[in-house]
Amino acid sequence: MKIISVLGSTGSIGVNALDVVGRNQKLFQIGALAAGRNITLLKKQIEKFRPAIAAVREEKDALQLRKLLAGKTDTRIVAGLEGMKQAASADNCQMVISAISGAAGLIPTLTAIEAGKDIALANKETMVMAGAIVTKRAEKKGIKILPVDSEHSAIFQCLEGQRRENIKRIILTASGGPFLHYKKSQLARVKLKHALKHPNWKMGNKITIDSASMMNKGLEVIEAKWLFNVDIKQIEVLIHPQSIVHSLVEFNDGALLGQLGIPDMRIPISYALSYPNRINNNLPALNLLQTGKLEFIKPDRNLFPCLRLACEAGIKGGTMPAVLNAANEEAVGAFIAGKIKFTDLPKVVEKVIAAHDFAADPALNEILEADLWARQEAIKKIERITV
Ligand code: MG
Repeated sequence: MKIISVLGSTGSIGVNALDVVGRNQKLFQIGALAAGRNITLLKKQIEKFRPAIAAVREEKDALQLRKLLAGKTDTRIVAGLEGMKQAASADNCQMVISAISGAAGLIPTLTAIEAGKDIALANKETMVMAGAIVTKRAEKKGIKILPVDSEHSAIFQCLEGQRRENIKRIILTASGGPFLHYKKSQLARVKLKHALKHPNWKMGNKITIDSASMMNKGLEVIEAKWLFNVDIKQIEVLIHPQSIVHSLVEFNDGALLGQLGIPDMRIPISYALSYPNRINNNLPALNLLQTGKLEFIKPDRNLFPCLRLACEAGIKGGTMPAVLNAANEEAVGAFIAGKIKFTDLPKVVEKVIAAHDFAADPALNEILEADLWARQEAIKKIERITV
C-alpha cells in the first residue's frame, strides 16, 4: 500500500489523481490533501478518502471546514503555507503529488523533497523556477521525481532502460491549441472564451491559456531540460494536433521511440503513482484504426512569441526562467480579468525580461525575490497597456 499526499487536490490534476486512487484502493491510500479555496469539493474528498491531514489556503476556510466535518472524520484541518508544508511532509506519506498551479507550488514541493518523499510532479513551475536547486536537493535526498506532465511522462517512458549518452534529441509534441491556424491579425481579437476552448485536453484555466499562447510548451522545454538533463538545443518542439503521440526520443543510431495513448491525464498520473509497475485503470484504449492521420507541424515562433521567449530564458538560465514565469502568470491573470489582449501576453513578458537584472547562479531566496520583482514589474507594464 502506497500512502499519498495530493497538493492541489481540487484542481484538474488533483481530481484525476484521486480518480486513479479511487479505482485502485488496494494499492493506494490518501494520507494528506491540500487545496486552495474550493472547500465544497475538498469536503467531499475528505469524506471519501479520509486523509490524516487536509490543508487549505485561508484560516477562515479551515474554520468552516472544521464545522462542516465536525464529528464526521478524524482529519486534522490546517491552513496557510504552514498547513501546506504539513501536508507536503506528512509522516505517513511516501509520495507527494505536486499539482498546485503556478509558482505557489515551488515551496511545498521543496518541503516534500526535504522530508524525503518521492514526487509525482505536475507543477512544472517547480522545475522552471528552480530546476538546478530542485534536482540537486532531490539527488542529495535520494528521492525520485516522476513526471506527471503528459509529454514528460512520455519521454520518461521512452528513456526506460536507455543510456542518457545515447540521446540525440527529444521531440516534445504540442497540440498547437485552439489558434493553431490563426493569422496574427485574428489573434489580436480572440476572446477569453476562445482561448479557454482547448481542442484535446480538459485542464485548468491558467494552463489552458498557456497552451493557447504556447507558453506552456516553452515552460515544458525548460522542465524537460532539468528532468532529463539535456541541453535546450537538443529539444525540438513539434505541433501534433491529434495529441496521440505524447512525445518522442531520438537516439544516436537513428531510432525514434514515442509513447502513444488517448489524451487522458489519468494515464501519466497512474504511471507516476505505480512506477515501475503498470496498473489497470479500465480506461478506454487508443483505437489505432480510428485515429486517422497523425500530423507533425513546425511551430510558428513569430505567431507564438511565448515559445521563443521561454526557450531563450531557458538557455539563459539563472533567474531568467523564474522571471519569465512570474511575468506570464501576471499577464495571464490580466488577460482572464479582461485587462489586456491575448497578443499582449508575450509583450508583457518580453518587457519584463528586458528590464531584469539577471543572476546566473541564484540561491532560492534570489529566485523568490526575482519572482516577486517580475510580478511588480509586470503589473506596471499591464497598467500602461490598459490606460
Ligand atoms: Mg503537458
